[in-house]
Amino acid sequence: MSLKKIPSIIALFILSLTCFSTIAVNAYVLLQGWTFSTSTIIVLDNTGYSETPTAVNNWNSYVLDARFSLTGLPFSHHIGMVRVNNPGVGWDGATTPYFDIWGHLYKMKIEINHATCGTYASWVRRSVIAHELGHGFSLGDQYFVPVLMNGATWGFNSRCGTFGIFTPQADDRAGVNAAY
Ligand SMILES: [Zn+2]
Repeated sequence: MSLKKIPSIIALFILSLTCFSTIAVNAYVLLQGWTFSTSTIIVLDNTGYSETPTAVNNWNSYVLDARFSLTGLPFSHHIGMVRVNNPGVGWDGATTPYFDIWGHLYKMKIEINHATCGTYASWVRRSVIAHELGHGFSLGDQYFVPVLMNGATWGFNSRCGTFGIFTPQADDRAGVNAAY
């Protein structure tokens, strides 16, 4: 999710006050019940963004207890990724889980909002996509800390506006290994 942009001059000022003092220890957040029953999570990419396979590879470049597998086949995937165009909303990416009648997770939908992401630099778009894929690993949002799962793309102590993060950090990777 994104927060509204705040003037970068303010963000820089705040960063100058805090980056060497309050940002220290992080701890991943796990979303209860969002873990798939398999550790090979099949992803169907219909975003049309070149950054999507790159973001998948960013995660897969680490040896973790779960990984993504891209497929081109429109069936039997765990995560379906699509591009949407919603100009009226504030978010740039969203992940929705689907549970069966027994409460077991069986699918997720990741929406990448072109209304916002289409205006982003490529590395920011890649950051949004990699972040949403982190939700696919059952990682929850964190705020104000320098991790990929920082839920704020822009704003105070944000993932892109402040920290410039677009790949999984040690804390993000530890979260995946804790979930799987
Ligand atoms: Zn998020």
